[in-house]
Amino acid sequence: MNAPVKPSKLIKGATGDWEMVIGLEIHAQVTSKAKLFSGSSTAFGGAPNTHVSLVDAAMPGMLPVINEECVRQAVRTGLGLNAQINLRSTFDRKNYFYPDLPQGYQISQYKSPIVGEGEVTIELDGGETATVGIERLHLEQDAGKLVHDRNPSSTSVDLNRSGVALMEIVSKPDMRSSEQAQAYVSKLRTILRYLGTCDGDMEKGNLRADCNVSVRRPGEPFGTRCEIKNVNSIRFIGQAIDYEARRQIGILEDGGSIEQETRLYDPNKGETRSMRSKEEAHDYRYFPDPDLLPLELSEALVEELKASLPELPDDKKARFVSAFGLSDYDAAVLVAERESAEFYEAVIDGLKDKARDGKLAANWVINELFGRLNKEGQDIAASPVSAAQMSHIIDLIGEGTISGKIAKDLFEIVWTEGGDPRVLVEERGMKQVTDMGAIEKVVDDIIAANPDKVAQAQAKPALMGWFVGQVMKSSGGKANPQAVNELLKTKLGL
Ligand code: ADP
Ligand code: MG
Repeated sequence: MNAPVKPSKLIKGATGDWEMVIGLEIHAQVTSKAKLFSGSSTAFGGAPNTHVSLVDAAMPGMLPVINEECVRQAVRTGLGLNAQINLRSTFDRKNYFYPDLPQGYQISQYKSPIVGEGEVTIELDGGETATVGIERLHLEQDAGKLVHDRNPSSTSVDLNRSGVALMEIVSKPDMRSSEQAQAYVSKLRTILRYLGTCDGDMEKGNLRADCNVSVRRPGEPFGTRCEIKNVNSIRFIGQAIDYEARRQIGILEDGGSIEQETRLYDPNKGETRSMRSKEEAHDYRYFPDPDLLPLELSEALVEELKASLPELPDDKKARFVSAFGLSDYDAAVLVAERESAEFYEAVIDGLKDKARDGKLAANWVINELFGRLNKEGQDIAASPVSAAQMSHIIDLIGEGTISGKIAKDLFEIVWTEGGDPRVLVEERGMKQVTDMGAIEKVVDDIIAANPDKVAQAQAKPALMGWFVGQVMKSSGGKANPQAVNELLKTKLGL
């Protein structure tokens, strides 16, 4: 269905070029108040074992009941990934023993997942885009957590997370560099956040990646892969993949071969190490869960969910480009977070002339506002300058009441003191001077005082810039630059 992403970067080995092949399995915690098969809370940070029902603790005879909201969330996600929604899917038991898994099996979807093939568009350097194929998305339960640092001589189990719904999103092996893998994860996270189906909080472990990496000579068949489990930041995903590819190239160039295995990334050492080999791989003895009927969805439900999806980042980006003439890059910056895009849209809503000033608004939101927020380590939600105040500042520039330079001072005042930008401009005398008489007076004075510079500028018109600077300076930045330029040209005879 999808052409793999073009190789953007080959790795130079001692014996020639190598290409990485990467496929990712993302575990994304479903945004839902209750767990996948019980009514227990999914709230983060509760005291240990306070969000545990008899189902989550796997008491004998307890029966799972599917949480309809988790199913809807999975369907929404599938739709957001342009994927096939399977109207019939089944749950299977994946059997293994671990102290954080009281059931002795995880309920997952093995043969028939709820979502089939789809795709994600990723942004590459230089405004290029590429498509990464999605193999499937299935629903499964999360496990509990072992706590080792509570008691020096024993390990405790916290089952709060046990049974929380996860979506496992499996990509095709379509990525060819760590940058592409990172772009894929951040795009996927953006889409999930827009959809409201996963908060994408990697620090809390609500989104984590298993990275499958292999290397090959360009044009050769795929090599044997290793899987790096549970990488929990976009930076570490890049580091783990690069390290792993180098490690495999080293082995192959020394005449060795790659053993398929599961590895862990150690961010402190910056390296991956073996966790278990293929021989030690679990045989999970999957079988259909006899407690759960196949999950049947109606076409009508899928249509209803499709109709209620929000505008997604790719569509929003295309709309910003066509409606306001933004560059692909600026539009991508604005849509990267739903909150940023919504802020920009609120600024646009408040503008007097959206068509004229939409692009100006993007520059101001990205450069002045986001720049300042970044510097202060603040979030858009806590911005001291509201969208309405931004709209007014941009109106004032667009209509020529203030220059861009004065607008920066105005922004600073609004940021620190607040207030209505229009009133501030009046009260503090910040209006641009377009009164030709007043500007002419300043121009005449400067020309009279600098006969040597006049001669120079007449010999070399580029030197007129010096006069523009002087006039702007003596007007406190308030002279209209276009009027100044025109006047100077006439007066200097250029
Ligand atoms: P399994 O059934 O063993 O879990 P899958 O075929 O489901 O294997 O693949 C798991 C992940 O590994 C997918 O994301 C897939 O894209 C990726 N993958 C498969 N083969 C390779 C390979 N040769 N190199 C890198 N990634 C791969
Ligand atoms: Mg797999």
